[in-house]
Amino acid sequence: MSKQEGMHKLDKETVALATQLAVDEDTSGAENPDTELSELRALLSRHLKQELQDKEASVTKEAEARKQRIAQVQITLNEIEDSRDRCSHTKPDGKTALGGQRNFDGKYRFVCSICNRTFTYPAEGPDEHAVPPELLPATERVGSSMGG
Ligand SMILES: [Zn+2]
Repeated sequence: MSKQEGMHKLDKETVALATQLAVDEDTSGAENPDTELSELRALLSRHLKQELQDKEASVTKEAEARKQRIAQVQITLNEIEDSRDRCSHTKPDGKTALGGQRNFDGKYRFVCSICNRTFTYPAEGPDEHAVPPELLPATERVGSSMGG
């Protein structure tokens, strides 16, 4: 992550105020006899500049930490997905380990009792896993609790 990206996250109003104060500091000298006010402005300007630098540093640090957390979660998710890819979704006797029920939307939702992967039948979209035909539970297992 570059410094510029970090700056974008800083409070725009603070940046504008610091810039304005810096301009005032440079141009107001002779026209503004109130030196105490000028000094205060200069002090505030320095203070704001320091604050901006601190903010930039902490924004960069937070972004790094967030990136690392996301990467860690992604690794964990990948590991879970990998183990689910390796799962045969079958019980030791060779029968399907999927069990589930028909939802209100008319689709079937199955869960593997071994790896907990969820399957949808029929599957739609990239987020829904299709049920391999050989693993489709017998309909009586699926529908027995639904009214019969
Ligand atoms: Zn499984």
